[in-house]
Amino acid sequence: MTNHRCGALVFRCMDFRIKPSILSQLLMRVGYSEGSYDLVSVAGACKDLLSDKSGERDFLIKQIKLSQQLHNIQEVVMLYHDNCGAYGVPDVDQEYKTQASDLSKIKSLLADEFPDLIFSAYIIKGVPADSLSLEKLI
Ligand SMILES: [Zn+2]
Repeated sequence: MTNHRCGALVFRCMDFRIKPSILSQLLMRVGYSEGSYDLVSVAGACKDLLSDKSGERDFLIKQIKLSQQLHNIQEVVMLYHDNCGAYGVPDVDQEYKTQASDLSKIKSLLADEFPDLIFSAYIIKGVPADSLSLEKLI
């Protein structure tokens, strides 16, 4: 197998309103250039790492393991967003608090399982208004 590397694995929500070209620009602004990361697009991004269904958790863990083995990543970036259907929380502030709390738990969980990796998390804001910005959480 050839040796190809990239710096990070990015988990994003599958939501169509977060257009790939815009996402790429947002990530570039915070230091992740296009082509420098693996990208996993799944409903709720990493939300299912807290699922009580092991199959849902295992799918996401497998993506991290494969990215680490195949591309030698150093970092996992978790991108959540406002107005996320996978969360289904109508109140913006409550959604933010829930997502921030979940991301904190997920970071601890992943740090135990992947002690050599760095974990970062951002919230993509402005999805309903189609005016996206990134806020760093972790
Ligand atoms: Zn979503």
